[in-house]
Amino acid sequence: MIDYGCTDAPYYSPDSRCDDGEGFHHGIDIALPCGTLLRAGAAGRVIGPDRPGRPGAAYGAKAFRIRVETADGPADVLIGHARKVLVRPGDRVRTGQPIAETGDLGAPDGCHLHFEQRAVDGGLGTATDPSDLLALRRP
Ligand SMILES: [Zn+2]
Repeated sequence: MIDYGCTDAPYYSPDSRCDDGEGFHHGIDIALPCGTLLRAGAAGRVIGPDRPGRPGAAYGAKAFRIRVETADGPADVLIGHARKVLVRPGDRVRTGQPIAETGDLGAPDGCHLHFEQRAVDGGLGTATDPSDLLALRRP
């Protein structure tokens, strides 16, 4: 797992927010076997690639976003590196619905879920720590 924020993991360019030449990871990576079924943790709507903030090639050719409601208002969740996507732009997604299969498209380090939270139609610079949304508990 690679956490949100500064990281000494390879593949990240040095970032001015970090010390010792570390890079900045804009989401949370969770290693999973290739083809693991991903289910929506919240209801939302799948956003088309025509909207601003389209994920770049590093997220894989099938990366997509779902607009969800958070405690702080609407936000876009970006799912990266999927090998198969089971929803289409415009689809309404319900909690628990299968949305994709994990893969390694665009990922140099194996199959994993890249989970990122951005502002509505926001680019990379709007990414914030998604751990609350992912409901992860820190040790
Ligand atoms: Zn990642």
